[in-house]
Amino acid sequence: MMDPADKGENRKVMGMRPEWDTYFLRIAQVVGERSTCDRAHVGCVLVVDKRILTTGYNGSPTGQEHCDDVGHLLVDGHCVRTIHAETNAIIQAALHGVSTKGATCYVTHYPCLNCTKALINAGIIRLVYETAYSIDPIAQSFFQAAGVEETRVPLPNGGDQTA
Ligand SMILES: [Zn+2]
Ligand SMILES: [Zn+2]
Repeated sequence: MMDPADKGENRKVMGMRPEWDTYFLRIAQVVGERSTCDRAHVGCVLVVDKRILTTGYNGSPTGQEHCDDVGHLLVDGHCVRTIHAETNAIIQAALHGVSTKGATCYVTHYPCLNCTKALINAGIIRLVYETAYSIDPIAQSFFQAAGVEETRVPLPNGGDQTA
């Protein structure tokens, strides 16, 4: 969990130059091109000290078919087969024994509430996103309460046009 005493220090460290944010966000965008479910190609990169820890995109768990091949598995209008990009990035870290504490989450689209909760408890201290078309106000309030800094960085090429 995040140490509240670190918050002030983190904010200083978080003063990353915009070009780094653009760099990692564009990588997240490329990662998102691997997505196998969703109308939007969501990609995520977790970064500490300008080093990529893990990446994630929207996709099926091992053993499940891809939504792009067989269609979505819809329950109440939502596809329940897919693991979201941000959650997949955290899972990859767990799988490979990499600590996500103090990481910045670069993600093409603003996280949903479930991913928000996972990111907060994975020790993410900063969120950088590109597309703001569906910001969940509850997710945003959770990030604020946890002291996670948010930055929207529009990409020069306009980002994901499929959303
Ligand atoms: Zn799906
Ligand atoms: Zn999500």
